[in-house]
This record gives sequence, C-alpha cells and structure tokens, in this order.
Amino acid sequence: MDTLESVFPSADVKCAFIFAHYDDAALNVSKVLDSCPPGSIDMVLCSAVPSGRLNSLRQMQLPSRIRRSRASILLNHAILGRPVYGEWDDHCGFSVSTQEVMRERSAEHDRVCSLFDVDSFGLDVLDSQYGRSGRKGEEKALARALDLVRDREIGAVVTHPLDAQHPDHAKAVKLALAVCKSAGTSLVTACERPYTVCSAAECSHRNPGYARASATVNLDDRTWKLKHEAVSCYPTQIVGLDGSFTYDWMARPHLGVECYQRIR
Ligand SMILES: [Zn+2]
Ligand SMILES: [Zn+2]
Repeated sequence: MDTLESVFPSADVKCAFIFAHYDDAALNVSKVLDSCPPGSIDMVLCSAVPSGRLNSLRQMQLPSRIRRSRASILLNHAILGRPVYGEWDDHCGFSVSTQEVMRERSAEHDRVCSLFDVDSFGLDVLDSQYGRSGRKGEEKALARALDLVRDREIGAVVTHPLDAQHPDHAKAVKLALAVCKSAGTSLVTACERPYTVCSAAECSHRNPGYARASATVNLDDRTWKLKHEAVSCYPTQIVGLDGSFTYDWMARPHLGVECYQRIR
C-alpha cells in the first residue's frame, strides 16, 4: 500500500473539495480537510433550493403521510414528471419547508468549515430528491467551480470515487473531472463512508488500474477526535444515516479510516 504522501506529493498543494452534499467531505476526507494549506476550498454541489412550481408544491408542508401517499406521488409525477417529495429530508425527520431544511443543513456545514478553517461555496445544483437543474444549471456550476479553482490556484481536486452510485455523487464526480481537465489539476478520489467499510488490509478501491497511487489511513487520535466532532455537527443527517445503515457506522474502526486514490 502507498502512503498518503504518494497520493498528495506536495503538502503545499491547495485542494478543492468537490462533494455532492454538505456532510460528504467531513465523512470521507477529514484528514486532508484538516491538513490542507490555507486557500483550499470546499464546494458543495447540491446547495440549491427548489423554486417556482416545484417549490410551491414542496412548501405545502403536508404531513409526510400524505406526501408519501400514492395519490400525492402520482400527482407530483403528472405535474413535474417525477415523484418528488423530498424523500431524504423526510427520512431525516424534517417536516418543515425546503428553505428551512437547507438553512439548517447549511448552518450545520458552516460549523464544520470553521472547525477545519476552510471556506465553502455552494454550486447551487438541485439535490436529486428535489428535481433536476438541467444542463444550464450544471454548466453554471462548472463555470463557478472553474473560476474558484483558477482564482485560488488549486492544485488538486478531491471528490467521490469514479464509480460512485448515488446520482448526486456521480454528478459531483463528473463536474470534478471536467474541472480537472480544463484547469489541469490533479484528481484524487476517496472511498465513501458510510457506504463502504475499508481497512488497511481491505479496500475495494486499492490500486485499481486507473489509479497512480492509493492509500488507506487510520486516523490518529487527534484527527479522529476532530472528525467525530465534525460529523456530529450534522445531527439531521445522522438521523437519516442511522436509519439507512445497520452497522455502527460512526464507530472509529469504520469512520476512523479514510482511503484516497490519485487518479491524475
Ligand atoms: Zn452525499
Ligand atoms: Zn477504501
């Protein structure tokens, strides 16, 4: 196994963290968030709040029992072309408007960014639970990300794995790849917690043919404490994740392990 130094050859290289949701960077790359040089930036792809007709439907604040009902899903499908009801927010126990949900999620994230002392920018694409931003929205996000990467002289983009399954994660990877291609930066991916469990002995992304180097790191005591504190800043996500993963995903043997792969 290679070391983290082989994945990030220089400690002076500024990083751009491009992840789909507010909690993804802390869950996956706390070690590098903590050690990256000043000027590094965090970008959250899905920071948009639905607007227009979609928004007014979401603002109806119907009880989740009704929003989840077959009649409601069919009605949404007929009007919007997809069964939108903010299913993940629902799973996390939210029963307030989408605006309020996003305000709370972004406040949680602000606390984490100050823990790591890193600036954060929203790329304002819609979360797939709310709908689609379309090509225009995605192009705007790419242009904004590229501007930030060039302005800050970023040397490495850090994102989800190339084979990410979650539709928003896959979208973030696509955008990260496009940024690296245009800006000529390195690309580093990271295994996804809590979706995958890795150990120093076993990681499904260890040295795949397309990676130049890869490393699995057991966080030291200080970094583990910081990561646990950071992830604990997302109580609304923890509710949803607890309901989705049956193993003790917040325990140190699982969450205290991070894997990095240098792609280019
Ligand atoms: Zn995510
Ligand atoms: Zn791994």
